[in-house]
Amino acid sequence: MLYQGVLRKMQTEMAAPIQYYLILENDFLNMNQLLDKTIHLQFIKHQCLNCSLNKPIFRQGFCKSCFFDIPQAADWIMKPELSTAHLDQEDRDLVYEKKVQLQPHIVYLANSSNVKVGVTRKSQVPTRWIDQGAHEAIEIVEVPNRYLAGITEVALKNHVGDKTNWRKMLKNDVEDENLVEWREKLKQYIPAEAVDYYIASNTETEIHFPVKQYPEKPKSLNIEKEKSYTGRLVGLKGQYLIFEDERVFNVRGNEGCVVSLALS
Ligand SMILES: [Zn+2]
Repeated sequence: MLYQGVLRKMQTEMAAPIQYYLILENDFLNMNQLLDKTIHLQFIKHQCLNCSLNKPIFRQGFCKSCFFDIPQAADWIMKPELSTAHLDQEDRDLVYEKKVQLQPHIVYLANSSNVKVGVTRKSQVPTRWIDQGAHEAIEIVEVPNRYLAGITEVALKNHVGDKTNWRKMLKNDVEDENLVEWREKLKQYIPAEAVDYYIASNTETEIHFPVKQYPEKPKSLNIEKEKSYTGRLVGLKGQYLIFEDERVFNVRGNEGCVVSLALS
């Protein structure tokens, strides 16, 4: 069987374990069913997720000219505190910015390799946590727009991390942390504009990933450089495929690459 298409991040479904789906032009693959199977991956070309041209991918699946032009790749995506739609101020496209920024956002703590703070649209919970490979997460505030979430994250970053160590996450070199305690401790640092949005309930979400074998020394697979790779799939965590020989492939990091995938 041969499948082909442009890579986009895998879709997921909250279940025990998490279900992963790779959606290609004509196929919908439940990746959990490929565990224990040998997969051949081949790089074919680039296809920008916006203009569809075969141009080198710059960031987030977009070619360089799209990345610096389209509203989906503006600075406020990665830096929510730069959001301005709540002031009626346009960055690249006010209609798009209002639609995305003026909706409920969550500031959360997630533990993927260490405890970190993050921001997501409420509609992206728990997808965002799954994508980061977090095995536990908890919400801190629910605010009505992206700006308030951004300034809260900036304030909390001074007291807790905001990055995931992908190697530790993939090795499952993680410690259970009491996120309820972390949340209580951080409450005092929430900015005045957001403090009324503190969430009273403190339910921790646990996430179970389908991994049969964790790598001891994960080595990243660069399919663009190596052109092809063959390996037996032994796990799915975050947006990574984990292979038996300790190679790991970041599907999200390769958005915009057209690949073929064959099973044997
Ligand atoms: Zn493009």
